[in-house]
Amino acid sequence: MSFNDQNLPFAENHLEPAISEKTVEFHFGKHQKGYADKLIALTNGTPFANMDLVSIIKETVDNPAQTAIFNNAAQLWNHILYWDSVHAYREENPIPAGAFADAVKATFGNEDNLKAELLDAAVNLFGSGWVWLAADNKTKELKIIKTQNAANPITMDMEPLLTIDVWEHAYYLDYQNRRPDYAQTLIDKLANWHFAASNFTAA
Ligand code: MN
Repeated sequence: MSFNDQNLPFAENHLEPAISEKTVEFHFGKHQKGYADKLIALTNGTPFANMDLVSIIKETVDNPAQTAIFNNAAQLWNHILYWDSVHAYREENPIPAGAFADAVKATFGNEDNLKAELLDAAVNLFGSGWVWLAADNKTKELKIIKTQNAANPITMDMEPLLTIDVWEHAYYLDYQNRRPDYAQTLIDKLANWHFAASNFTAA
């Protein structure tokens, strides 16, 4: 495998008008590709070159000598999940009935509370990072997690179900500094709850 053989699951204009073609072009084609290229350079000739991303992430987390490999592998993996976490703009975008919807109700009371808590996490995460809806691997309980920089829940014994990229490069061309508007739009109109639900069922 090659770390830069990733493809977007849709065309670059697929998220308009919420996220522009220009943003997706730069986000996928420059930022994500940059992480992949750096990861290839950093792992060339090492055992990591033939490992899958999850294994690299788990192997290098919290190892100061391998921070650069961790950062680039995790950023690459996080972006792959991010593109699967969104779909084309939908005016109405409810969570589908089923086990995941039941878990949302059990943990957050209702769907609106989940969305409000995701927004709060996105708005209040300081600096660059990611907001996650994740399920505890043991209890299956849903949790909202904020991580900084490249960190992600797979090193916390959690299964990520859906993620929101809150690095400025994810929204600056469209929303400038208005991260709350970006996050609100993503949560209300783009969030792929079917993807989250299928990850929950598989967790
Ligand atoms: Mn990004």
